[in-house]
Amino acid sequence: MRKKLVVGNWKMNLTRSEASATIESLLLMIEPTTEIEVAICPTYLTIETVGQLFKRTHFKVGAQDVFWMNSGAFTGNVSAPMLKDVGCHFCIVGHSETRGRFGKLDIPESTIPYFSETDETVNLKIKSLLYHSIHPILCCGETLAEREAGQTDEVIQAQLKGALSGIEGAEFHDGVVAYEPVWAIGTGKTCDTAEAGRVCTMIRKALVEILDESAAASIRILYGGSVKGSNAGELFAQPDIDGGLVGGASLVAEDFSKIIQSA
Ligand code: PEP
Repeated sequence: MRKKLVVGNWKMNLTRSEASATIESLLLMIEPTTEIEVAICPTYLTIETVGQLFKRTHFKVGAQDVFWMNSGAFTGNVSAPMLKDVGCHFCIVGHSETRGRFGKLDIPESTIPYFSETDETVNLKIKSLLYHSIHPILCCGETLAEREAGQTDEVIQAQLKGALSGIEGAEFHDGVVAYEPVWAIGTGKTCDTAEAGRVCTMIRKALVEILDESAAASIRILYGGSVKGSNAGELFAQPDIDGGLVGGASLVAEDFSKIIQSA
């Protein structure tokens, strides 16, 4: 039986004092239960602050990205052993915002080349995370153009194959996959519940082929893309949706607590 998992991706938001205030409010709103798992992925600078506040709870802290080498001349980057050292349990990889698939979102064109993650670098990051016992949250998903061209399933299958190349089922057993249609991230557009459920079932079948049956049955598959308190319940009720990866709504304690309660 897979435990539901709700992960907040704070992106480049909240200073340490804002992060503390948000977590303190959240902890007042949530009944402690070990029946579901909750994690927050704040900026690198607030990982320890959030981790300290979670100390006496079952909530976990994670990171939003990682570099695959352990140390060296890689200016601006952070490695898996460094994330482990500050208490990270999870780490997001392959988010559409780091894959450079921004499409027409409202960001300066000049920042696109900076975020140039590929399936190959995602694969290297996952291997490094697994080696350091951090659970990867592997994001995959199609752009609007790919969906309209009927390529959704093949795009996702290729992303999964590339990201998990050379990795055994037993190694990724406790890993997480997040289905995040690029066109639904931060846009307020949620994927139709039945379609999100269908894609997540397709992902689980692909994981049987790429890894093995036992790993595919235990990997949590999350849906992400404008999840809110009002739609979380029906999304999380789909048989192959094991929770959510939540961006915007995780920044407001009241909104995030409603999503956690839906799980
Ligand atoms: C995300 O960033 O992973 C995400 C799903 O964002 P939002 O919930 O804001 O669409």
